[in-house]
Amino acid sequence: MKITIVAGARPNFIKIAPIIKAIEKKQSEGATLSFRLVHTGQHYDKNLSDTFFEELNIPHPNANLEVKSGSQAQQTAAIMIAFEQELLENPCDLVLVVGDVNSTMACTIVAKKLNVKVTHVEAGIRSGDMTMPEEINRIVTDSITDYFFTTSTLAGENLLKYGAEPSAIHFVGNVMIDTLYQNLNRISSPYFWNEYQLESGNYIILTLHRPSNVDEENSLIDLLKGIDKMVGDKKVIFPIHPRTKAILGEQNLELKNIITVEPQGYLNFMYLIKNSFAVITDSGGISEETTVLGIPCFTLRTTTERPETIEIGTNHLIGTSITNLEKVFGEFLQNGQRKAGIPELWDGKASERIIDILLSKM
Ligand code: UDP
Repeated sequence: MKITIVAGARPNFIKIAPIIKAIEKKQSEGATLSFRLVHTGQHYDKNLSDTFFEELNIPHPNANLEVKSGSQAQQTAAIMIAFEQELLENPCDLVLVVGDVNSTMACTIVAKKLNVKVTHVEAGIRSGDMTMPEEINRIVTDSITDYFFTTSTLAGENLLKYGAEPSAIHFVGNVMIDTLYQNLNRISSPYFWNEYQLESGNYIILTLHRPSNVDEENSLIDLLKGIDKMVGDKKVIFPIHPRTKAILGEQNLELKNIITVEPQGYLNFMYLIKNSFAVITDSGGISEETTVLGIPCFTLRTTTERPETIEIGTNHLIGTSITNLEKVFGEFLQNGQRKAGIPELWDGKASERIIDILLSKM
């Protein structure tokens, strides 16, 4: 079986790493299985791309479509045009896509129109928020996917509601957590750890990149100033996403506690998360990692496609207003309650299950 694996953006690289390892393990056991890795070039900054390939030992892509940035339509169209050519020149039995970025949806449409089967890893999660580009990517991808791999039973139920065949849905766990477990003994402190006098449990991590939080400059500045004031004497390490940086430019916001740093590589970032007091974020993936690590997470969004993180209690869905963040964070400081729990099958073996199931189907 020949699989073309598609990855375009930071969270994709983290998700494909263990899948490729699982394929290589099967190959070493004699399975007739090969893969071709296609990087669409959606994320191209070294900090968001090359670093992850190096740190997670992901093989050099066989092709890089180099689509780079653009509006939603420009980027999606550019990926589709380039991926069609790629697939025609390099036929395969199956295209494997992960997550919910534009590359996920664009390559799924192209593959299906060339009558190639598609498998979607992290299928079926839904926020219900149609203003999120990712939600549209999820719905379109899942509407034409052949084999679904899910992180929760709820994701499977969502797929059934949309009319998916029950036999095509496989609850396997979470590949992002496979990567976490595979690398926990390799994480290391970043170069600024001593410089900023960071100690385990004495700082907060902040990440923001969703359009709803960062695209409007004044409300982004108000949010940052509010967080800076709210945290008292705790330092806040803010690895700034290029999208957010582009909005803020070089202006000096005179923040007392927030320290802006470049986006972190995986090993430094997970060290920072694992040792933090709490995390404030609008990321989906980080709310999963904090759940497994038992780190309190305050999600600056109105919805989540990962409700298990809320049910377990590590993740608090705040909305986008600083007033509610202050209230919920204040309550957390008072009761100091820290919850932890591992969702079903988030055991580090999802990728192996995926490859076993694919081999049994083809
Ligand atoms: N991440 C990282 N360095 C950073 C910020 C995030 O390694 O500076 C990792 C993080 O651990 C998570 C993934 O990138 O696994 C999430 O990416 P992001 O928040 O961009 O995407 P989302 O999950 O919201 O789609």
